[in-house]
Amino acid sequence: MTGLIAQKKNKAFRSMTGKGFIKKRTELSHYEADSMVNDFIENRLNIEETKLYIEHISKCRECYEDLELVYMIGNTLRYLDEEEDASADLQKMLKTDIQKKASKVKIYDIHMKLYKYIILAVVIIVIIMLLDFTGVLPVTRLI
Ligand SMILES: [Zn+2]
Repeated sequence: MTGLIAQKKNKAFRSMTGKGFIKKRTELSHYEADSMVNDFIENRLNIEETKLYIEHISKCRECYEDLELVYMIGNTLRYLDEEEDASADLQKMLKTDIQKKASKVKIYDIHMKLYKYIILAVVIIVIIMLLDFTGVLPVTRLI
């Protein structure tokens, strides 16, 4: 973990991606992933960031271990505070949390694909209607 400085610098980068200055990101660097650990755990990443982060930690052992460490420390402290069962399997809890977030990302991706198809269908229908209306392609008269 490189810590706070990395976190601050990447906030700036991420605020740009959030506003669409950077259209499509396909991969995160270790440096970027590192700055997202806390936000991932506390559900403060947007869906695109969550997707990129999960993709990164699924391929990068080092960053996954960082996440695991931060998650363990955070939860152990909480258990001590709340005097809950500290023997809970934190590794399993983390995996469940990642799976939940990954399925949210999947659902989001499916919705985005659906929207694209719906928009495409609407555009095609509008074009056909225009062609019909202008008489270029008289669809309604063919039926
Ligand atoms: Zn990494």
